[in-house]
Amino acid sequence: MSALPDPRPRLVALGRLFYERRWMWATAGNLSARADPDSFWITASGLSKGELAPDDFLRIELASGRVLEGPPGHKPSAETAIHRAIYQTQAGAGACLHGHSVEAVLASRGRDPVVLPRVEMIKALGVWDDGTPTALPVFTNHPDVTSIGQAVETFLRDHPRPLPALIVRDHGVTAWGQSISEALRHYEAVEFLLALLARGF
Ligand SMILES: [Zn+2]
Repeated sequence: MSALPDPRPRLVALGRLFYERRWMWATAGNLSARADPDSFWITASGLSKGELAPDDFLRIELASGRVLEGPPGHKPSAETAIHRAIYQTQAGAGACLHGHSVEAVLASRGRDPVVLPRVEMIKALGVWDDGTPTALPVFTNHPDVTSIGQAVETFLRDHPRPLPALIVRDHGVTAWGQSISEALRHYEAVEFLLALLARGF
């Protein structure tokens, strides 16, 4: 399989950014990007994302979910199931970013779906005044994260042109894009819009 440029150095920098933006408290959240069409690199479980090193990543086979490559002693986060569901259903997805922000928890309370406000920032999601729905799907949080992954996969198979993001209630945002830069733009925009909702907009 044709390998893509190694995304790990960029993901290390992004981990620092997410930590400093207060989107990845404690060791929460995970960042991934495709290594090639059949596998992706994802942050190892249990590490502060503000202090990642380039070898703190595992390469996961898309079809099976098994670890193909990575440093000994590290294991993938259970949330890898959500990343897999996205790569398996979104052919154009090249990167997937998941954080745990205060705003996402507040905005997901009592809303299903979460309808993002149609303010200027919505353009960053490729949406403006063309009538495209701005509803982000909300998934129930569950201790067994594989079941969240299955729910995400089912939703995305049933909705061929979703917004490039979703929310797990009381938990956080996941956003994706063709590239790391595009996924970051989507993620930042969603956090901005959720911050408005959390402040009563
Ligand atoms: Zn999470």
